[in-house]
Amino acid sequence: MSTEEILEKVAAEVSTCTKCDLCKSRTKAVPGEGNQHARIMFIGEGPGFHEDTQGRPFVGPAGQFLVELLASINLKRTDVFITNVVKCRPPGNRDPLPTEINACNDYLERQIAAIDPQVIVTLGRFSMAKFFGGEKISSIHGRARKIDGRICIAMYHPAAGLHQQSLKDTIRSDFKRIPQIMADAERQSVEEPGKADAPKLKEEPPEQLALF
Ligand code: URA
Ligand code: SF4
Repeated sequence: MSTEEILEKVAAEVSTCTKCDLCKSRTKAVPGEGNQHARIMFIGEGPGFHEDTQGRPFVGPAGQFLVELLASINLKRTDVFITNVVKCRPPGNRDPLPTEINACNDYLERQIAAIDPQVIVTLGRFSMAKFFGGEKISSIHGRARKIDGRICIAMYHPAAGLHQQSLKDTIRSDFKRIPQIMADAERQSVEEPGKADAPKLKEEPPEQLALF
């Protein structure tokens, strides 16, 4: 199947999915959207009120800030792929439960495999936990790490910046690092074609990438 076909199939399955209880309270499931061949993918937590109403990710206030952050590095929503760890809204915006995240994980894995982005940005602690295990956001935010052949960057959730000016400034400056990280990822993929299947890098990562 082509990338388009896989993403369409995932979206169709998500729209009628009953694998966890979040299906009972959702209005619309939110599979995710954007450029199917994006080099960079953003993974948030789960739909909120506006996303649940529209069936689209990051369209409320946090989404407006995300669009502003993307614009600050000359990217549009349509240049990137945006999705969440759970595709249905947790009631009252409560945290998604581990069982719900697990139930939904297969959709996210298939999206990542189909899009095959060079860079993954985690937004908030639930998507961070998937890639960075028990790390603390306060120590790793804005820094790049190679995980399973992709460059992953953990960022604070844009919603956190809406309530706290100092975090807003931190998120803005973390985002400014993305273009350099993408350029480094691009260079590595040229030097190392088929990177997703290749064994881990033997040589030290390039200095400017500041992997940790
Ligand atoms: N917050 C998220 O984590 N995801 C969305 O889609 C919207 C808000
Ligand atoms: Fe299915 Fe995921 Fe929605 Fe749960 S959150 S019902 S697993 S699509």
